[in-house]
Amino acid sequence: MAQISAIRGMNDIHGQQAIAFDFVTETAQAVLQQYGFQSIRLPIVEKTELFCRSIGEVTDIVEKEMYTFNDRNNDSLTLRPEGTAGCVRAVIENGLAHNQIQKLFYMGPMFRYERPQKGRYRQFNQFGVEVFGLASVDADAELIALSARLWEKLGLENLELQINSLGSQESRAAYRDILVAYFEAHRAELDEDSLRRLTTNPLRILDTKNPDLKTLVANAPKLLEHLDAESIEHFEHLKNHLEDLGIDYVVNPNLVRGLDYYNRTVFEWVTTELGAQGTVCAGGRYDGLVEQIGGKPTPAVGFAMGIERLMALLIDQGVVPETSAQDIYMVLVGEQVQRPGMVLAESLRDAFPELRIQMNCGGGSFKSQFKKADKSGASFALVLGDDEVTQQTIVVKPLRTDQAQKVVAWDALVETLAQEFSEI
Ligand code: ATP
Ligand code: MG
Repeated sequence: MAQISAIRGMNDIHGQQAIAFDFVTETAQAVLQQYGFQSIRLPIVEKTELFCRSIGEVTDIVEKEMYTFNDRNNDSLTLRPEGTAGCVRAVIENGLAHNQIQKLFYMGPMFRYERPQKGRYRQFNQFGVEVFGLASVDADAELIALSARLWEKLGLENLELQINSLGSQESRAAYRDILVAYFEAHRAELDEDSLRRLTTNPLRILDTKNPDLKTLVANAPKLLEHLDAESIEHFEHLKNHLEDLGIDYVVNPNLVRGLDYYNRTVFEWVTTELGAQGTVCAGGRYDGLVEQIGGKPTPAVGFAMGIERLMALLIDQGVVPETSAQDIYMVLVGEQVQRPGMVLAESLRDAFPELRIQMNCGGGSFKSQFKKADKSGASFALVLGDDEVTQQTIVVKPLRTDQAQKVVAWDALVETLAQEFSEI
């Protein structure tokens, strides 16, 4: 029968990739907890209208990337393309943003109908962080500080922080006219997408991926030069915080981000090591969004990391082992070994919750079991044969050093292993 394959752009994550995935998400969770953030878990499907209203009708995501379908009740639903919209919806619906500060994180799959390539998939995972109720720049700076700490914890190098300010709605509206005049004067050089955007959402032309427009965009008037006074001050304070914290940054005046809801601070962490898919983390302030979705006016700032892109970087930079090594492999050969072997394995798991203990299941010769023990990466094999069972002993055999093996009584095993592991 024909084999059934996965859907294009939707990948199974296994082996070394899975190790990298867990490493990223567990490390991120630990860092977020260190900063006093709380976990929130959100639905994968939302009403389509939520994304149209928040991300913006004239964005790549809403125009052509969403997985939208009618359910059996004929309601239009969408697989979430990003996490912020759902998080804002949840915060409003559960009354979490009213007169209080919320610092939240979440993770999970997102869906976008894009052309699959390295670092760009149709189902991918994001780790998202959102802060509600703080208009002050300390919140923006703390988010950047915690992301910098995460790269350090992951052992990632060569990430560049790019920042920009989008100003207020009003200063952006004034800039929009200036930008339109500039692009109108260069109409002939624009591509089809940009021509359309010129009337619908001209700022988005700055975010074009078309290399032919690079020079035109680089020479465009800069939003940074048309900001309102308060946004300029906010941006200056952000830079001061980053300098105090020793976090290097580059001001990228063309950083406008792919979603419409941002104002003031926007930032991205970028690497040159993943080709065109170089942004591993992106975010910014979105003070108007909560109100736009029907909540009370609530300032907010957040970011999202692409877990697959971080995984690829970690693997390329050699940070992730190919398999997760075991600490102990139990070799069991004989008629009488299964029952005491299982009991011993469980008692060791009680005594050493931090050790990875693999018990050989399914039998096999000494030779084949030792082969598996060696492949597992374990530091020690514990060997149980019928003679050992009769004498209530077990053999502790170092697999990675030339030290001699020891015969140890069952009731001295925990103590012996504690000693052995304290020496490696
Ligand atoms: P890009 O410019 O690469 O399309 P974006 O601006 O659309 O990114 P965001 O919506 O800001 O991306 O999402 C935050 C992060 O999620 C990105 O920086 C990236 O790391 C990751 N990401 C976005 N789209 C994908 C995708 N299709 N596959 C894998 N990761 C993705
Ligand atoms: Mg995109």
